[in-house]
Amino acid sequence: MKIDTRQIPGEGLILIEEFEPKALDLDTDVIKFLEPVRARAVINKSYNAVCVLLTLSSAISIICSRCLKEEKKGFSRDIELNYAVDKSDPIIELDPDIREEIILDYPIKPLCKPDCKGLCQKCGENLNEGGCNCGTT
Ligand SMILES: [Zn+2]
Ligand SMILES: [Zn+2]
Repeated sequence: MKIDTRQIPGEGLILIEEFEPKALDLDTDVIKFLEPVRARAVINKSYNAVCVLLTLSSAISIICSRCLKEEKKGFSRDIELNYAVDKSDPIIELDPDIREEIILDYPIKPLCKPDCKGLCQKCGENLNEGGCNCGTT
């Protein structure tokens, strides 16, 4: 997503774009994007600054760090980016900043749900799907 700071009208500008997660290199070992990322940007320019309010939405799959199950989730983020207006370089390239904001927000240990019970240490049974018999013998 690019913005030309010379072409932002006084009342602001709304841009809607879709981009491929691969183009921004968003996938990790445990987080994968399943759909293109839809981005809606509300852009406002003041005398020497540009403010971009971005709303991103997509769908991701995560691998739970406790039970190792793959879980599909909706993805949505609101991001605010601020830039100084540089007359010698009027084009602002948003992609590197969008990527950084998304990646910095990734959980270190993604969970399928906050209270995931994980796997039984003895038999490997997924304890979210009913108990195993290890505790009773
Ligand atoms: Zn889990
Ligand atoms: Zn068990």
